[in-house]
Amino acid sequence: MITTQPSCNDINEPGLIPLDEALARILVGVPVIKAYERVNIESARGRTLAEAVTASFNVPGHTNSAVDGYAIHSADLPAAGTRVFDIAGKAYAGEPFHGTVSRGQCLRIMTGAVIPEGLDTVIMQEHAELQGSAIVIDSRHKPGQNVRKAGEDINQGQTILHPGKFLTPPDIGLIASMGIPEINVTRKLRIAIASTGDEIFSLGQTTAPDGLYDSNRYSLLAALDRPDIEAINLGIVEDRPEALLNAFEQAGSFADVIVSTGGVSVGEADYTKTALQTSGNIGFWKVAIKPGRPLAFGRIGSAVFFGLPGNPVAVMVAFYILVLPALEKMLGVTHKPIAPVFQVRTLENLRKKPDRTEVQRGIIEQNHMGEWTVRTTGLQGSGMLSSMSLANAFIILEHDRDRVLAGEWVWVRPFAGMF
Ligand code: AMP
Ligand code: MG
Repeated sequence: MITTQPSCNDINEPGLIPLDEALARILVGVPVIKAYERVNIESARGRTLAEAVTASFNVPGHTNSAVDGYAIHSADLPAAGTRVFDIAGKAYAGEPFHGTVSRGQCLRIMTGAVIPEGLDTVIMQEHAELQGSAIVIDSRHKPGQNVRKAGEDINQGQTILHPGKFLTPPDIGLIASMGIPEINVTRKLRIAIASTGDEIFSLGQTTAPDGLYDSNRYSLLAALDRPDIEAINLGIVEDRPEALLNAFEQAGSFADVIVSTGGVSVGEADYTKTALQTSGNIGFWKVAIKPGRPLAFGRIGSAVFFGLPGNPVAVMVAFYILVLPALEKMLGVTHKPIAPVFQVRTLENLRKKPDRTEVQRGIIEQNHMGEWTVRTTGLQGSGMLSSMSLANAFIILEHDRDRVLAGEWVWVRPFAGMF
């Protein structure tokens, strides 16, 4: 008999932090960036609004017609039978009618044209019969129909966008509709990315017989290729404590966040851990999540540091589940289109151990009944990046859950909206 040490195969291992708690600790541990910059709205999509945008006028500015037709006074609507209205004039969008429309008369009006004071109802042209310079309508109409009231979309003085809004295409249109060409957004978050590991080679290098190409730096740089982030590629850092500490400390002087991969578990060559243990402000966690268990989190200089595991799938899982929410908090994002998480039935049995969250790679699709289902992409090794590439969703098996049988409901998080 030998005495064994805690390992990633253990359940109920002391010192494991539940995923929710790890995320909560990360979120309280990162600062919100207060600095902002002024940008043209043409390059504001995907940035975070850093001011309130207020309406300086009503939208629509004037009460106008929603259809092509004839504007009348609602009191003239016939209660039964039909009624004839003389056409007093014409109004086009951008060319209002300045004359008077007497009671019993109508105004020929086009979509978007201003409805003059006194008129309040529009008859669609398809519902009116034209007879020379008059129209005939019947009794099927409602007072106020086909009218867009001044201010019905937006009221003057109203806050139309709040600080913290992650700007989407309709937001940009809304800002433009107020005549505003430039706005303040949170400045870009500067994120330095490093790979570690002497077996890892840069693209263009010849790899050693047992070496492999660096994929983590590229998947992370791609994940960070967003309008609100400036990614800094630190390359592969040599696996020596002084080299690692030096590289990270230097990055800590210009980056808001440093993300490194590899070297944070308990192997003999896990130098990132050795290097950072001496720098003091880093916690080495074992998060109860598979894949992605070892995680270093803390500060280097003024930068937030994330030491992710080395395995390429673990990197992606840890990034999207633990790092990205922290980045968005730092950017000050408070309102963003949601990336939905919902339940579907699994088509297969799923292996799962209780007491840790498992993030498997799945393919969600609709069956012939139109119901959404999920199956895995096959083997789920944390080094198998192809499993992640084939997938269109994470299958998230919650902490307490044991093995799952085909037909049971499981949570899925589609990649659409996440990438
Ligand atoms: P580590 O956490 O350093 O023990 O790394 C775990 C596994 O991930 C090892 O098999 C590494 O070879 C692999 N790995 C580490 N860094 C990278 C990288 N940048 N690209 C691809 N694989 C990596
Ligand atoms: Mg390593």
